[in-house]
Amino acid sequence: MILRLTSEQLRLLKDESSKAHPIEACGLLFGKLNDGEAVVTRVAMMPNVLKSSTRFEVDPQTVFNTFEQADRDKLEFIGLFHSHPAPARPSEVDLKYMRLWGEAVWLILSSSDGTIAAFQTTNNDLHEVALKIEAI
Ligand SMILES: [Zn+2]
Repeated sequence: MILRLTSEQLRLLKDESSKAHPIEACGLLFGKLNDGEAVVTRVAMMPNVLKSSTRFEVDPQTVFNTFEQADRDKLEFIGLFHSHPAPARPSEVDLKYMRLWGEAVWLILSSSDGTIAAFQTTNNDLHEVALKIEAI
């Protein structure tokens, strides 16, 4: 799987993550899924209601509305974004929820060192997703 982001989207994710630091920033990613490739065309940031630096949770109504809007705009759900004030790899809690979200891509950005990485679980198997940033 390849996850495609634009440099502008990456800038937005970095800005939101540094603004929230050390609290985790979070959001949902939508766009187009073709074979083996996910192209992000919408980044929907949402408040972390836990205001925690180790976990994130979003308001269910906000999630519902965001999915409805994406559906109206014919966008597909690609995955979740959140930041860590720690390395950009899934925590134990993340791993637990990743299993529940099926094959959704989890994009994680470290708000301490700016690194970004994407992960996916297929058949309970965690692997890294290749990230391609298109300069615009
Ligand atoms: Zn996490």
